Amino acid sequence: MESRSAQQSAQDRQLAARLDAEGVRNTALTWVDNAGITRVKAVPAHRLEQAARRGVGMSPVFDVFTSDDAITESPHIGGPDGDLRLFPDLDRVTPLAAQPGWAWAPADRYDQLGAPHPACQRQFARRMTERAAEHGLGVRMGFETEWVVTRVPEPGTPAAADPDAPLDFPCAGPAYGMTRVVELSDYLRDITEALTVQGLDVLQLHPEYAAGQFEVSTAAGDPVRAADDVVLVRETVRAVSARHGLRASFAPTVVAGLVGNGCHLHLSLDRDGRSLHRDPAAAHGLAPEATAFLGGVLEALPALLALGCPSPASYLRLQPSHWAGVFQCWGVENREAALRLITGAPDDPDGGHAELKPFDAAANPYLVVGAVLAAGLHGLAFGSVLPEPVSGDPGVLGVRERGRRGIVRLPTTLTDSADRLEKSAPLREAMGEVLHGAVLAVRRAEAARFAGEGDEEIAAETRWRW
Ligand code: GLU
Ligand code: MG
Repeated sequence: MESRSAQQSAQDRQLAARLDAEGVRNTALTWVDNAGITRVKAVPAHRLEQAARRGVGMSPVFDVFTSDDAITESPHIGGPDGDLRLFPDLDRVTPLAAQPGWAWAPADRYDQLGAPHPACQRQFARRMTERAAEHGLGVRMGFETEWVVTRVPEPGTPAAADPDAPLDFPCAGPAYGMTRVVELSDYLRDITEALTVQGLDVLQLHPEYAAGQFEVSTAAGDPVRAADDVVLVRETVRAVSARHGLRASFAPTVVAGLVGNGCHLHLSLDRDGRSLHRDPAAAHGLAPEATAFLGGVLEALPALLALGCPSPASYLRLQPSHWAGVFQCWGVENREAALRLITGAPDDPDGGHAELKPFDAAANPYLVVGAVLAAGLHGLAFGSVLPEPVSGDPGVLGVRERGRRGIVRLPTTLTDSADRLEKSAPLREAMGEVLHGAVLAVRRAEAARFAGEGDEEIAAETRWRW
């Protein structure tokens, strides 16, 4: 950590004073652990400048926390010893519209001597963004957030005391139906307002397929920013929900057997400001560099699933014919392909991009953006290619027909994807041994924790974790 200059410290003090004058009492410094849980330390306004200068202490053991708050260990991390410093990124301090008196800032983690913590996921994402820039490649990313909302039972009612009480959805009516918007119009207005006031550019908001399910998407930008944004979106939706007597679940599988919550990643590539999705000489506009990058991502998808689909609950969601993209293939505007190429309107300069569908919100978004960048850059370096695009739903084809067309199912268990991540030399190199080892330890512990449990149990036990 470069120590902050006198000038920066003076600016930090001004910022803290401004936040204080706006009524901000605490700033939540968040980081996302390897199990995808957003964890936090808060500092009062008068401590913010000092936090930016010296950091805030925290244990490195959080890198081996699992989603149920148990603690495992990796070859490098575990045990009660050691301390790290959490440094808020003051460029991103945001007063929280649905939590009056609170602001939020994403944090980077360093050791006590000021060296980057090797398992800091946000710095991993930044390193990979810089690696892309060194290749002259611009990458823009954005996440879609899906969630399911339920009514919080009235205190004192039998439902409030019964953890197995059926979920109470506050809106009824058809999937994607206007009925749900009418029923929850104040809630949805407040979500848009809170996100907008917080500086997020909301692209769209709509009811999704499953009961009580909604989706919001925000504009794409720098990859680290995209990961920050999705954390902010999620916590904002959670806070607005609470103000409406509602509870939001971002879990991959809220109810076993039903459509789950995805957290699809959209990305587009450019060189010198020119879109690599708009090459007039190339099929579907995909410039050769974009083909190689996306080819690398597609090749790495089985290993990437260990990052983007990190819970046993993720694999309950990954069902064919559920728009979750469970086959390792790509297609033009194909919502059943793991990699969906979106060509957009021909006159829309931003229209061309790609979407990765399998990922969910149990994932650490910093790991996701960093690893996707690493896989794409590896594809670029080694001249990866994309196979033939797939149209239609591979899930309705017989196994033999899929085999004939070379369409492979992505890992169906966390153990399978963790095995692929363990063997992935490019991801191991990009993440570094410490981060790679910690993620694997957490994946193995999660798999062991839920081994032998039924789908319903897994869904119920993970429903309110993210
Ligand atoms: N809810 C679906 C999923 O599990 C995605 C629906 C959509 O395409 O937006 O990913
Ligand atoms: Mg959706």
